[in-house]
Amino acid sequence: MGVAANSSCLEALREVVGEGASALEPARGVAGGHFVTEVAPKTIEELSDSLRALTAQGESVLVEGAGTQMHYGNPVEGAATLLSCRNLSGVVEFDSADGVIQAGAGTPLRELAEVVAAEGWLLPLDPPDRGGSLGGVLATAVSGPRERGLGPVRDAVLGLDTVLASGDRARCGARVVKNVTGYDMAKLYVGSLGTLGVIEKAWLRLKPVPLSCRLVELEVPPSDETFALALAAVRRGSARGVALRSVAANSHEGPEGSLGLVAEFAGEAPATEADADWLLRGRTAWAPAEGGMDAVRDLQGLPLPGGLRARVHVLPAGLAEAWRCLEGPGVELLAYPEPAVLHARFAPRPNGADDFAWLGEVLTRLDGMRHSLDAQVVIEEMPAGAPGDHDVFRGTPNLGLMRAIKDRFDPSRILNPGRFAGRI
Ligand SMILES: Cc1cc2nc3c(=O)[nH]c(=O)nc-3n(C[C@H](O)[C@H](O)[C@H](O)COP(=O)(O)OP(=O)(O)OC[C@H]3O[C@@H](n4cnc5c(N)ncnc54)[C@H](O)[C@@H]3O)c2cc1C
Repeated sequence: MGVAANSSCLEALREVVGEGASALEPARGVAGGHFVTEVAPKTIEELSDSLRALTAQGESVLVEGAGTQMHYGNPVEGAATLLSCRNLSGVVEFDSADGVIQAGAGTPLRELAEVVAAEGWLLPLDPPDRGGSLGGVLATAVSGPRERGLGPVRDAVLGLDTVLASGDRARCGARVVKNVTGYDMAKLYVGSLGTLGVIEKAWLRLKPVPLSCRLVELEVPPSDETFALALAAVRRGSARGVALRSVAANSHEGPEGSLGLVAEFAGEAPATEADADWLLRGRTAWAPAEGGMDAVRDLQGLPLPGGLRARVHVLPAGLAEAWRCLEGPGVELLAYPEPAVLHARFAPRPNGADDFAWLGEVLTRLDGMRHSLDAQVVIEEMPAGAPGDHDVFRGTPNLGLMRAIKDRFDPSRILNPGRFAGRI
């Protein structure tokens, strides 16, 4: 598999997509790769023909949506062609009576959210407004602080149209849930980071816009009781999301060591009022910070050049201990009690430009938690130039089975090679 895409590859792509294939001059550096060719199909036929042509040439590709999170995942191996989904864009069908929508993978999330909001619906995908695309959100399947209310990314997907490395098309699921029989294949593609197939379009299930929304913000001590309170809050009937954040991550000036608790309740007014009042009873609310839960969401995944960002999944009962394991100078923490996730941001602490000793310490701490707390750890951002060979999906189980699945879907390792867990 050639790292420098050859001119016959560009010619082969031009035969199927014409001007949709181009030489990148200068070459683009993305996800640890060096790209000299780009193909941007406009239809599923062009996508299918492009992948068929690339497979015939033995050329690997890096799939790209809007390109806002290409640093996520392991570095790509041996690919010199970018496959952009930006032209696979637009709403295909929107049934506002049933609350379902089908859209192309390249559709900007912002655009999709506006279309459905105009008819009183909410898109149950809530990424920061950094211009991401539908395909990118589904391929990464990272959720935000409102996962309790909106559900995980996989639950939003009713059906997918994908194209395999061979160029064969695969349809799984459809607009109606009962159409899914056998294995729920759509769920396999969601979160597979573009290693099994290219998502061409998706059917999504929408949620009604809530009639009432209440936001509560409190300053709380860093105690076990605080974590228990956050868990009780997220288990209230109208809770859409609850987050704890270290004061360093707040816009408020709280005493050192204190935490900010942000809770959002959404639904029918009596329920949201009752739940917000329950949380406030005997406590003094902060004036809501600008942005409320949106600000929390935007903080999650905010790039940290030179630093390390990690996502740690634990049992709800282990969240307080996970927090204590990671807190310290130069560390910003953000925790969601259920499903229990901790987002940690480690500022770089180099003594000199090439000093990555701090990185080794951080990785040792994170790996220690995997064993002591049975946690799952994903490094979402690794500092550029970090020495060593680190799988950012730390200690993923069932790798043998996953490799067998990859071999079946993409035997020549054409799609996003090396990016996923275990360098799949
Ligand atoms: C609160 C919140 C925070 C988030 N924070 C992060 C974060 O820190 N890091 C992160 O990575 N994600 C994060 N996400 C997920 C985020 O929604 C997506 O990563 C982002 O929107 C990607 O959009 P994009 O089009 O820019 O994707 P891109 O950056 O273009 O691609 C992201 C990945 O998806 C693959 N991909 C893109 N399109 C397709 C397709 N059509 N078919 C197959 N594979 C495809 C790419 O190969 C790449 O590996 C977050 C989500 C939420 C809700």
